[in-house]
Amino acid sequence: MMNVSVIGTGYVGLTTGISLAFLGHRVTCVDIDERKIDGLKAGLMPIYEPGLEDLLNSSEERIRFTTSYEAAVSEAEVLIFAVGTPANEDGSPNLTYLFGAADDVISHLIGKETPTVLVNKSTVPVGTADTIADKIKAFGLEDRVSIASNPEFLRQGRAVADTLYPERVVVGGGDAAVQTLRRMYEVLVEQRFEAPSFAPRPEGVEAVPFMSVDLRSAELAKYAANAFLAMKISFINEIANVCDAVGADVRRVADIIGTDARIGKSFLHAGIGYGGSCFPKDTRALHHIADTNGYDFKLLAAVIEVNGAQKFKLIEKARESLGSLQGKRIAVLGLTFKPGTDDIREAPSLPIIEELVREGAEVRVHDPIALEKSRPQLPVGVQACVSVQEALLGAEAALLVTEWPEYAGIGAEQLKAWMDRPLWIDGRNAFADQYGQELEYRGVGIRGGA
Ligand code: NAD
Repeated sequence: MMNVSVIGTGYVGLTTGISLAFLGHRVTCVDIDERKIDGLKAGLMPIYEPGLEDLLNSSEERIRFTTSYEAAVSEAEVLIFAVGTPANEDGSPNLTYLFGAADDVISHLIGKETPTVLVNKSTVPVGTADTIADKIKAFGLEDRVSIASNPEFLRQGRAVADTLYPERVVVGGGDAAVQTLRRMYEVLVEQRFEAPSFAPRPEGVEAVPFMSVDLRSAELAKYAANAFLAMKISFINEIANVCDAVGADVRRVADIIGTDARIGKSFLHAGIGYGGSCFPKDTRALHHIADTNGYDFKLLAAVIEVNGAQKFKLIEKARESLGSLQGKRIAVLGLTFKPGTDDIREAPSLPIIEELVREGAEVRVHDPIALEKSRPQLPVGVQACVSVQEALLGAEAALLVTEWPEYAGIGAEQLKAWMDRPLWIDGRNAFADQYGQELEYRGVGIRGGA
């Protein structure tokens, strides 16, 4: 059992903190957001993440929440930074939160006698750990304070399972820091814990590879992983666009190429592209990092460009079916960037809605989880509907943006009764089997859907 502090209680920090407490460590979670911390103290989850509250309930006695750095730093053997690193205008990551947190932590490390490992879990440009190491040196703390990079690969909506059963744990740093983190992750790496009923251990998972590398390789690996996945998405979306042009079905093409082990089945689901707080920002950041280091990453530039355009395919398809969208009532179903999360950061829904409004459509939107959260970001005149029926009533088209399972349960007869024209434009190709025959159905790269 170790004393661990986690700085930042967002999707990554909170999941990490609660999971480490579940695995037996004594954890202090710190955030500068007092409301968040007050809520957490009162047992209120600031985010929607399946299983996270249950995990907290199983580990409550080992975790505390605070806004005090002093409490977090004084006893911690390991301090994990998990603050946000959003994109600046030019695509570079904004490191203000990270360096702000690092400065606060370092000021509290002065005078602390016991060794501390500062671990960076936030996604940051190569060389960021070295910058923090320089700050440590500037205060003469390098004998007692070491630095490590521990990039995070969890997916929102599956954060608990991804944290308890990761495909690998990556640690960059010197020997002492790596050994401390190997100890912190021992129970996880050896899978020596009883799997909770709400997050069962996937079949075949007996141990987790622990990969220790140099700091810079660890920092770059996170960007490389996200850029590769984004590339797969943009690639299959380009194939879908070709399918639309030639009358082929991207689902069949993806099935065929996915059986090739060198390609793999995952991330070959065509649609309106990636969104969320990671892929858009991390692809732009990696492009910027390469650029500022003298390398023109052309492939990545194309991935980003393709993704930027893909979301508007839905509107093109609506125009092809309806003509001008002026005065047409259109339902947008789903606001979050994917199902299973309440996160609307960089969700394709928002630019789609803005464009529909710009073209004069009467837009009604629905989301089962994120409606309230989205309200301030919706353009004037857009009607946020609490029920899906309200959104669909009298609509001439439904644009499926997030494949929430509840939309599968509506049923074609109901849709025909509610909508003025049962035109279902499926941005995720999620309901082709269900609605493909019975409604006026258009998918992305689906035969007959062009
Ligand atoms: P988030 O925005 O959900 O949470 C960040 C938290 O940090 C907020 O609660 C904020 O109040 C807090 N914070 C900011 N400055 C602080 C400070 N000085 N001291 C204490 N707390 C502070 O962010 P997130 O989605 O959890 O992402 C965190 C990092 O992890 C980012 O770098 C992101 O790229 C990376 N990451 C995210 C995911 C993901 O799926 N969300 C996955 C892998 C990696």
